[in-house]
Amino acid sequence: MPFSATPPEGLVTLSANARTVLEKRYLVKDKSGKPVEKPEDMFWRVATTVAEADRRYGASDGAVQAIAEEFYFLMTQRRFEPNSPTLMNAGRPLGQLSACFVLPVDDALSNGQSGIYDTLRSMALIHQSGGGTGFSFSRLRSRGSMVRSTTGVASGPVSFMQLYDASTDAVKQGGTRRGANMGILRVDHPDVMEFIACKEDLTKITNFNISVGITTKFMDAVKADANYDLVDPVSKKVTGELRAREVWDKMILGAWRTGEPGVFFIDEANRYNPVPHLGDYEATNPCGEQPLLAYDVCNLGSVNVGHYVSNGVVDWEAMRRDIALSTHFLDNIIDVNKYPLPEIDALSKRIRRIGLGVMGFADMLVRLGIPYDSAEGVEMGRKVMEFLDVEGKKESERLARERGAFPEWAQSIWGPDETCARDANGQRIRPMQLLRNCNVTTVAPTGTISIIAGCSSGLEPLFAVAFMRNQAGVMMPDVNEDFVAIAKAEGWYSDELMERIAKTGSVQHAEVPAKWQSVFNTANNISPEYHIRMQAAYQLHCDSAISKTTNFGFAATVDDVRAIYEMAYEMKCKGVTVYRDGSRDNQVLSTGATQ
Ligand code: ADP
Repeated sequence: MPFSATPPEGLVTLSANARTVLEKRYLVKDKSGKPVEKPEDMFWRVATTVAEADRRYGASDGAVQAIAEEFYFLMTQRRFEPNSPTLMNAGRPLGQLSACFVLPVDDALSNGQSGIYDTLRSMALIHQSGGGTGFSFSRLRSRGSMVRSTTGVASGPVSFMQLYDASTDAVKQGGTRRGANMGILRVDHPDVMEFIACKEDLTKITNFNISVGITTKFMDAVKADANYDLVDPVSKKVTGELRAREVWDKMILGAWRTGEPGVFFIDEANRYNPVPHLGDYEATNPCGEQPLLAYDVCNLGSVNVGHYVSNGVVDWEAMRRDIALSTHFLDNIIDVNKYPLPEIDALSKRIRRIGLGVMGFADMLVRLGIPYDSAEGVEMGRKVMEFLDVEGKKESERLARERGAFPEWAQSIWGPDETCARDANGQRIRPMQLLRNCNVTTVAPTGTISIIAGCSSGLEPLFAVAFMRNQAGVMMPDVNEDFVAIAKAEGWYSDELMERIAKTGSVQHAEVPAKWQSVFNTANNISPEYHIRMQAAYQLHCDSAISKTTNFGFAATVDDVRAIYEMAYEMKCKGVTVYRDGSRDNQVLSTGATQ
């Protein structure tokens, strides 16, 4: 039975900003560029497409209609949003619904599958469909080494990354946004120094984020101030050595200067690879929250946790129901998705990876009156992530009983004692649990979907209480509504105060009561230590990695950055991204203070 053509009646709570973003980027348009659907139609298109998967598992017409309506209100009441490609493409000819991919790059120009130019082609197809791609260039032979067939010399990983970068420029995604990439090189690759420096010039390789794959061996050498080996990726022979501290210092200096390279703690990530029998993690998606295997894919979605607080109390029961519904939604996506490559289609169905995360966490803290940079704030982060993880897995388990566990389950880290993957000491890595999905949780940046939901992004602190936001080329004013409501209720609101806050980028003004100065403390005023403590608290109960930027003030020193990188490693984070205010042009978010 077909769904009704029009969305169901009921409460929809989208803001004017959200409608603008949807109109500019997500709604179906006619040839002249005029939208032919309203935001409500778009959400109904997504809800009905995703609900269709239930039919394959025996749901009746009525049950499919009912779940479509639940999905619809989940999104239109801003309790959860799926990643952008789902909103753009569900129910449309392209039908590609995932944000994150990793592709292998083999040391061959072409081998018919994953040579440099084969993968270049695959990358273009993924970008065209709205996805972001990550690559490890670590398998490529180093610059200057011999190429037997031509007796020439190889041009090395960085030159091929430049090639991928140029192609990314050429392929626009549906004419709206350019593709995004992550480039990773292992720290023991002979070209690592060239790689670390390759984005020093801010006009180069602009479609890539870069991270160095850091091993435990390397970090031990940093601690001991020892040299470590560089290994040729083809012959596996040691070709030289470097002083670990010199390399570490160079990365940190780069991060201080421009925010890059980031680091990806590759051994730590692999410790929790749920399906090690299928390969190692070599790279992540563009924003770093998803370490993925070769030809792996993840569809993301985020629960707006601030939504569940009213009158200073969290409605955990309502959140529990929505986490279950969101997990169900993401699992359905795997079945209705149209993947750009057969390899990706096959792997996605064998491991059924999903990435459920949070957004609106800073709003949640504000509504509870808890400062982000406090022990209580960090504990709340841990607790929310644990709740999401436990409840998301309960639903994944329920789905496994109904629809079957993911096919690789028995050999995964979640499998039974007799067959599960174990660590090097023969110990279980995770307790046994029947699951529909090899990974359930992550925390994404939620750059666009947090605007659609009208909430703070991911697990980040408030960026500012009043600021201008550059969204798809349009500068949009953004004022924190909780702040305005409190200021009005307590009688210290004035337009002039809001202007001052926008200009200075800070709420540290005499008329703002001390309590609210700490509760509304913003990203640049929060110490880097607290950024990392929050990331580490979330990481404790997160299957995947976490998207988090640690903000530094402009005056921060190189040693400040070093301390944070080392703290993140000690606290078992899977990566670090830092950003020193004012160190790059064209910031997406900017307060008056940095302009
Ligand atoms: P959104 O809010 O649009 O759903 P996020 O900011 O949460 O997206 O980013 C999630 C993931 O989406 C990123 O880690 C990346 O893999 C992918 N992504 C983000 N921006 C782009 C882009 N411009 N092109 C391709 N992929 C992107």
